[in-house]
Amino acid sequence: MVQDNFLGNYTSCVAARSTNRGILAGSQDGGIATGLLAFALEQGIIDGAIVSMVDPSEPWKPMPFVATSPEELYFARGTRYSLSPNLALIKEATRSYGLDKVGIVGTPCQMQGLRKGQLYPIGLRDVPDKIALAVGIFCMENFPYQSIIQLVEDHGNTKLENVVKMDIGKGKFWIYTERGAVVQLPLKITHKYEQPGCHVCLDYVSNLADVSTGSVGTPDGWSTVFVRSKKGNDVWAKAMAAGCFETKPIEEVKPGLDLVTKLATEKITKNRKSLEERAKFGIGKGLRNPYI
Ligand code: FAD
Ligand code: SF4
Repeated sequence: MVQDNFLGNYTSCVAARSTNRGILAGSQDGGIATGLLAFALEQGIIDGAIVSMVDPSEPWKPMPFVATSPEELYFARGTRYSLSPNLALIKEATRSYGLDKVGIVGTPCQMQGLRKGQLYPIGLRDVPDKIALAVGIFCMENFPYQSIIQLVEDHGNTKLENVVKMDIGKGKFWIYTERGAVVQLPLKITHKYEQPGCHVCLDYVSNLADVSTGSVGTPDGWSTVFVRSKKGNDVWAKAMAAGCFETKPIEEVKPGLDLVTKLATEKITKNRKSLEERAKFGIGKGLRNPYI
């Protein structure tokens, strides 16, 4: 087990991508989140998963959703850069949907909330015991929905409904439109649109997930994957044995783990300073991630 101050505990880290071309085509990066949850569903390791869908009434507005079939999981592929309160469905998943083995995907803060709920299950009764697989995604920052609308209109010269993909990578915010235009924005432009709460966040790579994944560290179309817990190891080993993923040692790809470490260190160091600044005014005193 590797224990790292910024990357958390993990048993292995690899570059990976789904071998299912259908999953890969619509996924944000290497299709790890969707591929792993779909495999777990097919194998009965989970009987459904809380994911994030697009709200049909508004473009790119994320909406938590309980997926109980591979098709529903496929439909939820891709990243929406706004808040999707996935944990809000945790009771609903077990009660209304009757799930006994719940999968969930979420950002680092959502993985923290999930584990907190498992440690202190106030108001959750038996729900925490039913969490069977938590897939975390990396996250540097997030944007309120209104800010994403504004950001795209201000700097993408288009409306959100014309956007087919958004991405953050290589130090830029990328906007791809249906007419084939690609807008690259330096992140210094997008900072002012970020959710202020993200500026005190002390986790970049979902340290508390069973398996966590993001694009940084690996080439386009691939993902960096940290396998972290016993549950994560079991499902990842089975998925690998079933041929769901193609992998390469992380040491053999560029830019590799050094970049993940650099960005995690920068995020946490910067946000610790924000916390200290706020503490001077008595705000957020005692707000610390106990795992870092
Ligand atoms: P896919 O197979 O495409 O599946 C993505 C899964 O994420 C789906 O299950 C979907 O339901 C879920 N999802 C989509 N939007 C949200 C959301 N808003 N909240 C919760 N769940 C969601 N990666 C990096 O390497 N560096 C970053 O700085 C970074 N920042 C991110 C910021 C945000 C706000 C988000 C949501 C993601 C960020 N990611 C970042 C993760 C990256 O965009 C991909 O989600 C991740 O690499 C998984 O890709 P995939 O191909 O395996 O997932
Ligand atoms: Fe959550 Fe932190 Fe990402 Fe903001 S930066 S969405 S607080 S994980």
